[in-house]
Amino acid sequence: MSFHATILTLYPEMFPGMLDFSLAGKAREAGRWSLDTVQVRDFASDKHRTVDDTPAGGGAGMVMRADILSQALDAVAPPEDPRPRLLMSPRGRPLTQKRVRALADGPGAVILCGRFEGVDQRLIEARALEEVSIGDYILSGGEPAALVLLDAVIRLLPGVMGNQHSGTEESFEGGLLEHPQYTRPQLFEERAIPEVLLSGNHARIAAWRRAEAEKLTRERRPDLWAAYAIEKNGK
Ligand code: SAH
Repeated sequence: MSFHATILTLYPEMFPGMLDFSLAGKAREAGRWSLDTVQVRDFASDKHRTVDDTPAGGGAGMVMRADILSQALDAVAPPEDPRPRLLMSPRGRPLTQKRVRALADGPGAVILCGRFEGVDQRLIEARALEEVSIGDYILSGGEPAALVLLDAVIRLLPGVMGNQHSGTEESFEGGLLEHPQYTRPQLFEERAIPEVLLSGNHARIAAWRRAEAEKLTRERRPDLWAAYAIEKNGK
């Protein structure tokens, strides 16, 4: 089974975009994942192919219409389609590595990209869309957010990363940020690689890396650190 993404957007040309490069691009050629895009405008009924209208209650901007979006969604993802239906949205639950891993273990995703001020609330409720945010800032559209989400998912698909190992030692996977990394040259502007990393002593190296990861997480991400401490003490 390979991962299949369907993207509903006003800008299908933005896909696969960056996902056509590097590991993701090779994996797509190898058939490990696939993608199709749907132009939401194709479901508009007027000759201007309008998909948005002014917000009820007044205010700036435009809102994407529930009737047009639902027709587009239902055409490409009928109720029996097992894939989760996501709406990229700054009001959504922040995307985590845990959610990314769960998506990568599933059949794919149907992803709606918002534009303007967003989409009519009734569509979100009527189609039980899962709102997903990629961070506390506002993008001009859901397309870059969808690309970010897919990039994170695709690298976890079976056979995509050459070194299967690296997927499990990354930041967040163990609840911690990753330890610092070094490579040659041994001396860079009078800065040496930490001696322990050149020792060849794997136990010492592992202990050093863990200590550095814990220190970094404590200093930079008190939120992750608190969750990690609870998890550790609970075991
Ligand atoms: N008026 C909305 C923002 C609309 S931005 C609000 O204040 O909540 C337009 C579209 O960009 C959204 O519909 C969404 O699809 C996308 N978008 C913007 N920021 C995003 C984020 N942080 N994460 C995911 N999608 C985002």
